[in-house]
Amino acid sequence: MGLIKDKESLINEIKAMDIRDENVIDAIRKTKRELFVPDKLKDDSYKNYPLPIGYGQTISQPYTVAYMIELLNIKKGNKILEIGTGSGYNAAVMSFLVGKKGFIYSVERIRRLCDFAKDNLKKAHINNVKIIHGDGYHGYNKEKPYDRIIITAGTPKIPNKLIEQLKDKGIMVAPISKFYGEEMTRIIKNNNKLKITTHGSFAFVPLKKHIER
Ligand code: SAH
Repeated sequence: MGLIKDKESLINEIKAMDIRDENVIDAIRKTKRELFVPDKLKDDSYKNYPLPIGYGQTISQPYTVAYMIELLNIKKGNKILEIGTGSGYNAAVMSFLVGKKGFIYSVERIRRLCDFAKDNLKKAHINNVKIIHGDGYHGYNKEKPYDRIIITAGTPKIPNKLIEQLKDKGIMVAPISKFYGEEMTRIIKNNNKLKITTHGSFAFVPLKKHIER
């Protein structure tokens, strides 16, 4: 199979799309995306587009993952909260950036996707990610505050609880839903003031209320 070659072309493509952070590129290179896609789609693992993972959900486009993670400016040792685990791929990429001393908590509302992501992360030998079955609107209070928060589904507004759970000087990245598609948004918290900047248009599956058993 040509997955190794495909991976290198993908890396060249995302660099050409202006992803510059070498640490992010290195983390994308280290993460085996083929472990996070359904078996029948393995050959498409390194195509630069989203793929269906069941239950109406998708594993995000690799470029979008790299772009959001670059905006997050992750440091070694960071404690990160992710809302929308999906396949676990985005969490896996971040797990390389936080290193052994860092940790990722990831909340997913669909129980069977939690199981899918857990299996995928296990196959990838990634141990610094914990998956929580729950409603991301509430964040994950138990381990707050977080250095970084990332929402990987489109939301009309940043849930207040997530702002509360972000550390001072912490960074949050989220796609905010507009009339058409989502606007990538970065929020930096500073002395309880929020500095908000926008970073282009994207398309995401929606953040929903209520969990599925
Ligand atoms: N980060 C994922 C892609 C996420 S797709 C990956 O790397 O594969 C968005 C995910 O958000 C979906 O799995 C969806 O079920 C989940 N989601 C939607 N609303 C949610 C909510 N309120 N709480 C937690 N997860 C939610």
